[in-house]
Amino acid sequence: MAAMIIDGKAVAARVRAEVAEGVAAFTGTHGRAPGLVGIQVGDDPASELYQAGKARAAEEVGMISRRLTLPESTTQAELDRLIDELNVDSTVDGMLVQLPVPDQLSERLIANRIHPDKDVDGFSPVSLGRLMRGEPGNVPCTPQGVMRLLREGEVPLSGAHAVVVGRSLIVGKPQSMLLLAANCTVTVAHSRTRDLPALCRQADILVAAVGRPEMVRGDWVRPGAAVIDVGINRTQDGLRGDVAFDEAAAVAGWITPVPGGVGPTTIAYLLANTLEAAIRRSEADA
Ligand code: NDP
Repeated sequence: MAAMIIDGKAVAARVRAEVAEGVAAFTGTHGRAPGLVGIQVGDDPASELYQAGKARAAEEVGMISRRLTLPESTTQAELDRLIDELNVDSTVDGMLVQLPVPDQLSERLIANRIHPDKDVDGFSPVSLGRLMRGEPGNVPCTPQGVMRLLREGEVPLSGAHAVVVGRSLIVGKPQSMLLLAANCTVTVAHSRTRDLPALCRQADILVAAVGRPEMVRGDWVRPGAAVIDVGINRTQDGLRGDVAFDEAAAVAGWITPVPGGVGPTTIAYLLANTLEAAIRRSEADA
């Protein structure tokens, strides 16, 4: 039996359409559209591409999008001043700083500086704390996209054993919290995990977020399991995920492709987070 391929592009299009509806309603009620600001330091071409994609996506759903590009030599104090201004700017609902940043800047200080209510990437200590406590707040976009893909595929979650390979703050850790909140039994694996293939074979849901092309082989996958491939690896043969797709698809019950799987849902949830942030802020003001 071949796996059901969960189409991330189609799912992302649905999320964007939902956000566009919400944006229209918000704009009608409040007389202004939700605002998203993307800050980029330096002119790294990959960051440029990501920033442009996010800005375009925000405009397409009717938001006001601003892109600010600062010189490579920007100091932490200068960036802090800009973040402080945006924190109190009532037209700004969400902001993000494109990562990675130049060496003189600290991702930790940036995450601490952005107001948690505007932190649409969900990387600040307060946002991550709210996620852990199950309180409303900004949840990191990629793991939210993964949950939506699982739900769209109608993958049973309650009681399922989910193995998350990778423990980054951006993907692995928040992913494990969301799966736990959905009543999965969660195991988080990483570079020191012993006998990773055997552990993966126990997974009903296998989320690979490692950054190693095609590391997860077909014989790591339990027959019928749901395999979600977060990896984006640029190789000589083109874009590859962390999963050997053909091998895994022959065994799995569900699988996401790369490209066209998790990737498109990430930006869609950035938009969803911005709309939610705008709504929460307007409710707090009222
Ligand atoms: P990080 O490099 O921050 O984390 C990678 C994780 O994988 C670490 O926890 C590391 O373990 C673990 N790891 C590394 N090697 C192994 C190994 N041999 N066996 C088991 N675990 C291993 O990466 P990110 O979480 O930021 O990203 C992961 C992948 O997802 C990348 O390909 C990235 O491009 C992609 N990505 C995709 C997104 C999307 O929108 N689709 C968004 C964000 C990321 P340890 O902690 O022990 O070092």
